[in-house]
Amino acid sequence: MASKEDLLKQYFGHSAFRPGQETLIDALLDGRDVLGVMPTGAGKSICYQIPALMLPGITLVVSPLISLMKDQVASLCQTGVAAAYINSSLSYAQYLEVLRRAGRGTYKIIYVAPERLSTEGFLAFAESAELSLLAVDEAHCVSQWGQDFRPSYLKIAEFCAALPKRPTVGAFTATATDEVKRDIVRRLALDEPLELTTGFDRPNLFFSVETPASKDVWLGAFVAGRAEQSGIVYCATRKNVEKVCESLQRQGVAATRYHAGLEDAERRANQEDFLYDRARVMVATNAFGMGIDKSNVSYVVHYNMPKNIESYYQEAGRAGRDGSKAECVLLYAPKDVRTAKFLIENSEENEALTEEERAAVRERDLARLVKMAGYCKTTDCLRRYILQYFGEKAPLHCGSCGNCCGKLERIDITTEAQKILSGVTRVERKYRKGLGVTLIVRMLHGGKDQRVLELGLDELPTYGILSELDRTTIRRYIDHMIEQDYLLLTEGEYPVLRTTEKAKDVLFHSEQVVILVKKREEPVKTKQLAEADGGLYAELRALRAEIAQRESVPAYVVFSNATLQDMAAKQPLTYAGFLSVNGVGTRKAERYGAVFIDCIRAWKDRRIEGS
Ligand code: ADP
Ligand code: ZN
Repeated sequence: MASKEDLLKQYFGHSAFRPGQETLIDALLDGRDVLGVMPTGAGKSICYQIPALMLPGITLVVSPLISLMKDQVASLCQTGVAAAYINSSLSYAQYLEVLRRAGRGTYKIIYVAPERLSTEGFLAFAESAELSLLAVDEAHCVSQWGQDFRPSYLKIAEFCAALPKRPTVGAFTATATDEVKRDIVRRLALDEPLELTTGFDRPNLFFSVETPASKDVWLGAFVAGRAEQSGIVYCATRKNVEKVCESLQRQGVAATRYHAGLEDAERRANQEDFLYDRARVMVATNAFGMGIDKSNVSYVVHYNMPKNIESYYQEAGRAGRDGSKAECVLLYAPKDVRTAKFLIENSEENEALTEEERAAVRERDLARLVKMAGYCKTTDCLRRYILQYFGEKAPLHCGSCGNCCGKLERIDITTEAQKILSGVTRVERKYRKGLGVTLIVRMLHGGKDQRVLELGLDELPTYGILSELDRTTIRRYIDHMIEQDYLLLTEGEYPVLRTTEKAKDVLFHSEQVVILVKKREEPVKTKQLAEADGGLYAELRALRAEIAQRESVPAYVVFSNATLQDMAAKQPLTYAGFLSVNGVGTRKAERYGAVFIDCIRAWKDRRIEGS
């Protein structure tokens, strides 16, 4: 019988296991339950797919999302593994056909929606079939602590118990908190499982935080500089999704959108457009993504700051799943923190909870928000910040994040800070109740707005005292001074700006106020591989697109970007050479080797002629 290493190469085209994979596979082959916690993109699927190929009978994979199943099954069939799925997208006749074939032993792997497990027809099938392994994907869905709780996951344990022989159960998730882990073990009734949590680092992701004057202008340039790549732009609200998507479309970008306010049919169509690379950019709320298996997402931009690091890392982690380099950029504006805070404080969710419990949740959410905002403001290594948040050790500098690579500038703004503080003090004297930030910015800048004149702000000696700066900069300085406790923004419906005790140090003792800003750079154009390798990568991509279209599968199901990049680097001209490309297994080599080798040869010939 083939070893697990052979199967890894033969079916999946990889030459070595990644950390953790082997341990989990061995345990499952031994008949021991497992709980595998690995970040998105680490390679959880292989941990149950390889045992599925080695164990007798069938492996059931419980998975929450229909789109994911279809893709996974398409990918498996491409690699030569007999697989099928059962969910509500099948007609009754199709469903019966799958069961009939399964009964004859046609499939090694069957993906199934959790709701199915409790239906009589399926249970009858399961009782008569030989089930060796039950893999639970996105296992955190069983936990009420998680964000994606699915009641149907609670039925999984019952299902297993009802079978004549309980299969080995493997649970897999990317969510690592102890609460969730304990919940998974208990609610799936795992039997002394081997628990394995791999490192959370994703070395191929480049993290950065940008504070552009205009997010739209920044995003337009960023997307334009990545013409061949596909990416996701996450926004906090549906309104922003509409706005950003429209703005990209106006610039001629093939962008599409996804949020809970759209009709089912449109959501599905847009998602497909993105998966099949007809739309290059997906603009979406966080409703988009769980179970999105598109492996060739080259960047994830957050147009707004998410509510916590867990969400951020999960969403950003959808970039670069095939292991090739990818970018995760968060566009930060201090306003995002205030918006998120407002949303948490006014959240009407969790109706089932008591007032006390709700207060506890709110408290926890606010604490998480503070950490998220900290990420946006830190000038230390961003990767380290994230890994430490998840309780992992990390070196001081990763050398591949915006803060490790970017240049920081120290700007001494003591004089400006003094002017701002005296302006606020004047306002405090003239208006006991104080005034909001916007009006104070206008007063300092010397605006002739109607409100400013009505209130007589132009009569203050500090009127126009900072006219040499633009309003955005004044606003940024004020935000910085709020963060540094020199100023305070009151709570309530109409927040007003106040000076604090600490302000005196600046006003009367010349305390220095320094702001660290990243040198504002235009989004860097990524070097297109096409240029570096004389166009071979582009040709391989074109060939892949052709094949994908012919076979009606998404391009990344044929070969991932990482595989094409390796191919462009190795430029194999023989079958053996082709097999040595990472991500090329026997089946795919047989199927596609000839056409890709032809393509490479033709390209090489043209180069020789040209030189
Ligand atoms: P997860 O489910 O953990 O998010 P996947 O199982 O979808 O991740 O795997 C992510 C990517 O990593 C896939 O493109 C897969 O082919 C690749 N991969 C998995 N295991 C290996 C390995 N041992 N070597 C190289 N690539 C791998
Ligand atoms: Zn770093």
